Amino acid sequence: MIEIKKLVKDYGELRAVNGIELKINDGEILGFLGPNGAGKSTTFKVLTGYLQPTAGNIFVGNKNIKDHSLEIRKMIGYLPENNPLYVEMTVYDYLRFVADIREIKDFKKRLKEVISQCGLHGVVHKPINTLSKGYRQRVGIAQAILHDPEILILDEPTSGLDPNQIAEIRELIIQLGKEKTLIISSHIMQEVQAVCDRIVIINRGEIVADGKTAELTENIDNIDKISIELKNAEAEDIFGLKETIQGITKISCEAKDDKLQAEIEYLAENDIREDLYLQIKKEKWILLEMHRKHASLEEIFRNLTSNGGNK
Ligand code: ADP
Repeated sequence: MIEIKKLVKDYGELRAVNGIELKINDGEILGFLGPNGAGKSTTFKVLTGYLQPTAGNIFVGNKNIKDHSLEIRKMIGYLPENNPLYVEMTVYDYLRFVADIREIKDFKKRLKEVISQCGLHGVVHKPINTLSKGYRQRVGIAQAILHDPEILILDEPTSGLDPNQIAEIRELIIQLGKEKTLIISSHIMQEVQAVCDRIVIINRGEIVADGKTAELTENIDNIDKISIELKNAEAEDIFGLKETIQGITKISCEAKDDKLQAEIEYLAENDIREDLYLQIKKEKWILLEMHRKHASLEEIFRNLTSNGGNK
């Protein structure tokens, strides 16, 4: 188990991570989601021992990273953001080099396994700079799993890839998730939604949501939203709908010229459309537009992080 306790990381005056508390169970596939500048990479760098925390502690399997840095590094595989590789080297030479640093004993056997797992058969003897971005990413993942770590941390693993490459890397990630604790960061909701059991949303260095992907999605599926555009109505009349129609959870309203635009949220099980129509008719408001939409996870993410990133 990984336990992050009140983690703080400052860069000079800037607080990039502000008191993160998080427990990650063995075998979990955790999505670390947040806009650019939220503090995802910084958290990963501290977690992998590349940076010292300003305050707080990280325990991996009950061992404090401060006292057991080397040991814990052996348990973790890490694909940094932008996947820095020695691009003049061939895939073989690069992995050999990583294996030497990691002091991997049976390199030949391990290389075979990793090449097969990452689908690198055709490119082993090619220089990395001749490979497509998708293949480079596979090489990055290969170096991260070469020492067969229990925990794998992938920072924005599909960033900059085309849709086919994304699908391939996603498939590889799903396979790896079957045998390892996996932590993946992304600033794209669908990315983590597709592969993760649990999603933690981070904004401005703080956790703003944490839940099972299915639960987060379920709660969101429960809420529907109706947008209406009206004439001859006042904002206070619209807010008053909360009293007359049952099941409304939230109303927002904006006047534009002689029109009013309103968004009405309600629990999906109480379909308010009929009552809303009858009320509009009764009040003799002129209905210019009305449409319904489901709130998506993407929207919740945007709401939770709408004050933007730090960058
Ligand atoms: P994310 O990975 O979520 O995009 P980062 O952890 O990279 O976020 O960055 C968090 C904040 O810390 C940002 O405001 C970023 O500009 C700042 N930051 C990141 N790395 C450094 C650094 N080496 N020196 C100074 N500021 C940094």
